[in-house]
Amino acid sequence: MHSTQIDEVISAEFPNPEVDPVLSDIVKKNMIHGPCGNFNMNSPCMKDGRCSKKYPRQLIKETQTGDDGYPKYRRRSPEDGGCTAKINFRGKEIEIDNKWVVPYSPPLSKMFHAHINVEYCKSVKSIKYICKYIHKGSDMAVFSLKKAKEDDEVSNYQLGRYISSNEAVWRVLSFPIHERHPTVVHLSVHLENGQRGRTSREKMLKQLLLNHPGQP
Ligand SMILES: [Zn+2]
Repeated sequence: MHSTQIDEVISAEFPNPEVDPVLSDIVKKNMIHGPCGNFNMNSPCMKDGRCSKKYPRQLIKETQTGDDGYPKYRRRSPEDGGCTAKINFRGKEIEIDNKWVVPYSPPLSKMFHAHINVEYCKSVKSIKYICKYIHKGSDMAVFSLKKAKEDDEVSNYQLGRYISSNEAVWRVLSFPIHERHPTVVHLSVHLENGQRGRTSREKMLKQLLLNHPGQP
């Protein structure tokens, strides 16, 4: 996807209030991260003196698609024609620029008047957006009143793991967790006398099972 095509769907900028005052208000109310950092070192996102969500983000003229699947969205500086917004922060009016805008979809934000973060998912590294998050269930907290004797990651995970009603129904009815269409199977090149230790039939079966988990 070309970077300008991403801009047509996802924005990480304040809309021009003269062009779209409604969207401008929605973004100001719902799509600003923090502000944290120098504005508020005690913000919950701050870990070791830095924002764990990587805000404030870098201002850039054009969207750049990165190798790790997360693009850097266009965030124009005021000099490049970007808009700023005045927001109320702790009783004071502060002016912030596009460094603080959480990526959103203009039509979705306008439709729901809510915080809706939209991200472009391209590579396998961002697959959690399609496979993990939709099955993750409702939010939950894990806490303990005393320090555990050992830090056992496995039992910590099992204690914190639960199946929400929607995931339970999905699994009970054996719906597929994901599918690929068309199913493309990568075949490795066989050089003369360079055969692998297993037959290609087994390999194909294994691939089929990988593509259709949950189905015997
Ligand atoms: Zn932050």
